[in-house]
Amino acid sequence: MKLIESITASSWVTGFKHITCSRPECTRWLTQRHFETRKVGVKFEEKWFCSYRCLARGLERTLGKMLGPVGVQTKHSFRMPLGLTLVSRGYLTSDQLREANELHRERGQEIGETLLDLGFVNEKQLTAVKAAQWGCPAYDLPACMPPAAFRVPATMMKRYLMVPLQYVEKQQKLSIGFCEGIEYVALYAVEQITGCKAQPYLITASDYQRFTASLSEREVFEEQVFDDPHTPPEMRHVLCSFGAQMDAEEIAVTRCGDQLWTRLTRGKEVADLLFRVG
Ligand SMILES: [Zn+2]
Repeated sequence: MKLIESITASSWVTGFKHITCSRPECTRWLTQRHFETRKVGVKFEEKWFCSYRCLARGLERTLGKMLGPVGVQTKHSFRMPLGLTLVSRGYLTSDQLREANELHRERGQEIGETLLDLGFVNEKQLTAVKAAQWGCPAYDLPACMPPAAFRVPATMMKRYLMVPLQYVEKQQKLSIGFCEGIEYVALYAVEQITGCKAQPYLITASDYQRFTASLSEREVFEEQVFDDPHTPPEMRHVLCSFGAQMDAEEIAVTRCGDQLWTRLTRGKEVADLLFRVG
């Protein structure tokens, strides 16, 4: 009995297991061994499809479901305002806060910005207090900028003021830095597209600018933005043509605010296609 168990559990036998195309009408199949050694077909939502033709209907259905209205993240309000928190931490005096409050109302800018302009606090103090308000750690970017640990489309980095910080492959964990505050819709979208757990951090505005500036100098990723409205069949057509052209092994789709973020992957090659919706 033990012998049979060990034979059926061996990788040699497992290699002959069948994987069938996920389109119900299709009968094509592969052995696990064949599947692992030769990249054939395309993976979408944890299912394998033998071809882009077979993927089309399922993909279109998912795209259609994602076009409905979505909730908008309301402006976060904290129990204690930023200025008072800075005073309570000893970074600011009450008199300085009063002066800054008058000026920021006059100028119609954020209180943090006014405090920096007046030189009452520095960026690190401001970010540390903001991070405490959001209940997440602050992150200091090193002086020598490391390459991006993982990929986020530049369009989204700009829109949500965020940067990719670290990727721990073993734990499938990503760290994302936000400059103004945590944008949960973007954090969730990154998790959906990468399949990793994303941990938010707060970073200073200077670090955000330094990171994005260095990124555009060093790394250029393929990214396409479609600003005019597309119907689900149109989007499916674009994605399948693009996927077949680059021979992508996997497609991931998610909604992020007024955009559909789709990612095509082939080994280390990544292409992001963003469609504006709603
Ligand atoms: Zn098929």
